[in-house]
Amino acid sequence: MTTIMWFRQDLRLHDNPALHSAVSRGDVIPLYIWDDSKYPWKPGAASQWWLHHSLAALDTSLRNAGSRLILRTGNPLEQLFAVIQESKAVRIHWNRCYEPYARKRDEKIKTTLKEQGIEVESFNGSLLFEPWEIQNKSSTPYQVFTPFCNACLSKAVPRAPEPPPSGIRAPEKMPFSEKLDSLRLLPRIPWDEQFYHYWKPGEQTAISKLDQFRRNAIALYSSRRDLPGSQGTSQFSPHLHFGEISPRQIWHACINRPDSRQTALPFLRQIAWREFAFHLLYHYPDSDCKPLKEHFSHFPWSSNTKWFNAWKKGQTGYPLVDAGMRELWTTGWMHNRVRMVVASFLVKHLLIPWQQGAEWFWDTLVDADLPNNTMGWQWTAGCGADAAPFFRIFNPMQQGKRFDPEGAYIRKWIPEIGSLPDEFIHEPWQAGQQTLTKAGIKLGSSYPFPIVDHQQARNKALEAYAAMKKS
Ligand code: FAD
Repeated sequence: MTTIMWFRQDLRLHDNPALHSAVSRGDVIPLYIWDDSKYPWKPGAASQWWLHHSLAALDTSLRNAGSRLILRTGNPLEQLFAVIQESKAVRIHWNRCYEPYARKRDEKIKTTLKEQGIEVESFNGSLLFEPWEIQNKSSTPYQVFTPFCNACLSKAVPRAPEPPPSGIRAPEKMPFSEKLDSLRLLPRIPWDEQFYHYWKPGEQTAISKLDQFRRNAIALYSSRRDLPGSQGTSQFSPHLHFGEISPRQIWHACINRPDSRQTALPFLRQIAWREFAFHLLYHYPDSDCKPLKEHFSHFPWSSNTKWFNAWKKGQTGYPLVDAGMRELWTTGWMHNRVRMVVASFLVKHLLIPWQQGAEWFWDTLVDADLPNNTMGWQWTAGCGADAAPFFRIFNPMQQGKRFDPEGAYIRKWIPEIGSLPDEFIHEPWQAGQQTLTKAGIKLGSSYPFPIVDHQQARNKALEAYAAMKKS
């Protein structure tokens, strides 16, 4: 009896409950389907780059276990039927996806396949707890992080991760597979050259990064996690998004450190933020495009293409914002502190809707993840669950001075102002002509003047907020 293991956001062999169960039942066909139609939040360009390499890595792991990855392009239901017909498989396994579009798709597929006598089993391979398992005393979803996190911590310890299968038995005849290149996931114009320098997608990389992080960096996580100029965070996010590593693997590796659980907790709280994001999107499926606080739908947003483009290109004249946007473009990733600053700048200084920023992030992040991206943007815009109040407006200069005091991060991403002394690196327009000339800078030409004045932009944002409250 053959089972199709339909891989989606679980591109790994370790701790993969759907695969584990499929292997225990006999022959397995490992399958990935690239849906090339248009649908909401289809992976953006940077994510497609990651996906290409992650699929290649998964195929290698499967071959080492005696099997290989079957690739198909097209409508998932049609492709599943085609593979069933070619292979006479009787069963399909998958690990659950929680995004609104994927949930609807999977429900339809499950019903249709069951009607045709095909067994379908789904598993939890992406979360510590199912989004419906954590509820407050009134049996409603949480909207505040701390009680949500406490509720998670008070639950039974997530079960230990499962080992990878020692071998995966293939049926006598494997169905047809397309070549990875025919999925056309890599860009035609090679804007991705730098990505190779920063990332190596795949399960093996994720596992060795976890091992190194738990041994060394985790103890320094609390003190360094907010400093974009130091490598203080784990950079697990794309690996987690594509399921090259599971949160259970991370949880158990970190909690079982020899020193103490206390050392691991600040980091594990971030994994709980991820759980919270999934919880929110599951219970509020419109929140990817609609504000959770409904009155924000009356917010008087502006539209300014020139400013939006300046923000995207890292040409706003505010060094911390520009450094972040250039890090994003070059590497497909941005430090969390800086994500908050650039998002706040777009929404509050430029009054551009958070949804536009979320879409740009979606296309450019290698870790673009609908629950996390939605929560991050709604949080920053002040309209989400447990959000920063709108009137708390990040000051990009103060944020820079506090979290990048010597400007290491800024000097890396904006070399044209790299020779400024520390005191002006966060606000070059405050430097005198002599200092600018000495640093080789001509404001307005080698680096822009600020596109908006901080104080005026702040006042305008507060006025817009007051207008929304009155409406
Ligand atoms: P670490 O600090 O090492 O944390 C470990 C893991 O915990 C992360 O990989 C991530 O899965 C989770 N995590 C950490 N911080 C958060 C958080 N604030 N919210 C939810 N989960 C968190 N994260 C994404 O994975 N994809 C996104 O598309 C995304 N978009 C964001 C947009 C905005 C506007 C903001 C403010 C944040 C966004 N985040 C997103 C959350 C966060 O910035 C990243 O998860 C983090 O920077 C990834 O780096 P890391 O793996 O080194 O994090």
